[in-house]
Amino acid sequence: MDLNFTPEEEAFRQEVRDFFAENLPDDIRDAVRNGGELTKEHMERYHAILNKKGWLATTWAEEFGGPGWGPVERHIFDEESSAAYAPRIVPFGLSMLGPVLQKFGSKEQQDYYLPRILNGDDWWCQGYSEPGAGSDLASLKTRAVREGDEWVINGQKTWTTLGQHANMIFCLVRTDPDVKQQEGISFILVDMSTPGVEVRPIKLIEGGHEVNEVFFTDVRVPYENLVGEENKGWTIAKYLLTHERTGIAGVGFSMLELEEVKQLAKKITRNGKPLAEDPLFAARVAQAEIDLEAMKLTNLRMLFTAQKQGAPGPETSILKIKGTVINQELKDIRRRALGPAAAPFPGSFKDSNLDVAPSGHANNAARYFNNRKTSIFGGSNEIQRNILTKTMLGL
Ligand SMILES: Cc1cc2nc3c(=O)[nH]c(=O)nc-3n(C[C@H](O)[C@H](O)[C@H](O)COP(=O)(O)OP(=O)(O)OC[C@H]3O[C@@H](n4cnc5c(N)ncnc54)[C@H](O)[C@@H]3O)c2cc1C
Repeated sequence: MDLNFTPEEEAFRQEVRDFFAENLPDDIRDAVRNGGELTKEHMERYHAILNKKGWLATTWAEEFGGPGWGPVERHIFDEESSAAYAPRIVPFGLSMLGPVLQKFGSKEQQDYYLPRILNGDDWWCQGYSEPGAGSDLASLKTRAVREGDEWVINGQKTWTTLGQHANMIFCLVRTDPDVKQQEGISFILVDMSTPGVEVRPIKLIEGGHEVNEVFFTDVRVPYENLVGEENKGWTIAKYLLTHERTGIAGVGFSMLELEEVKQLAKKITRNGKPLAEDPLFAARVAQAEIDLEAMKLTNLRMLFTAQKQGAPGPETSILKIKGTVINQELKDIRRRALGPAAAPFPGSFKDSNLDVAPSGHANNAARYFNNRKTSIFGGSNEIQRNILTKTMLGL
């Protein structure tokens, strides 16, 4: 495997870099750079910019409106979009449901929903987790009973990210309670404006409103909103999760974070010397950089495998674990570098050195706390280790 980029790939990198320099609006770039809040309007506008260029659904097949990229192009795009302080795309429609519909959906579902995802007509959220069914997802209890040509859904989902913005939710529901847990689950699409759907906010530790509870009380959904076969939703659920895990690795964002930490360490002084010259601090940054370099190569290798097999395999769990651990480590290094200035009340501590810090220190505490989630969602890192021991080590 040759891991050097070809001249064509380098030319593509330049094209992506130029595109972001010319098209990413300043307010969106600043919100990402400063760790500020990205609104629904920001995200819709950003998606529309990418869609106009044909670069929104980077993993979709060309026949469905994807750009026809291979893993290397996707990798370059990821690096360059992060370096430009572009946001991550909202993954629920584009990276999760889109690939599911392309593989398991009916022609009617593909024709109706996929263009709506691209055009931003629908904002999707993910209804997998429930109170009592997170890691042990197959024990989910939300019930869907068929009545004529409708499903009647009762139950509760939780941790529903950005559900407050969504008009559609894809749900795992129990359609047969009398068989082995995994064999009685179906995958159903629900319009959130249907009577009986209620969204309630959950406040996170840093004060943000990112996740929700979603309640279903006698929610009536057309039968044809079932994706794939009845009681075969577990296969779809697993397929979707492998796509979720690849995106979570966030290699490009960690590269940016590393660069910022290095810049910060040159500006901040401790005992009259730049922090970068503190051997303990420097060693910690160096270790993070070595891990990140190894992770970049692993990411590339897995992207090649995904292209050969048509879909990412269980080894994406490695990306999920390493990607989130490295990113959390970098955020912790940054927090320690900032010292008291990383406190959640930025106005209360003044250090003139920080005026020249690259970005975002005012929101450092919020970013640090918010980022705790990445080793939990998409299947916790402990669960990823279980998957690896079973599927790759055969234990
Ligand atoms: C910010 C955030 C956003 C989320 N967004 C969504 C969303 O949009 N949609 C959605 O459906 N879900 C979402 N989730 C839910 C997420 O997928 C679950 O939190 C996750 O699967 C863990 O489940 P749990 O919270 O119930 O924890 P539990 O399953 O109760 O786990 C608690 C702890 O026990 C460990 N553990 C559990 N079982 C095992 C085991 N067998 N072996 C070893 N260790 C184990 C876990 O690793 C964890 O540390 C989100 C979660 C967070 C925090």
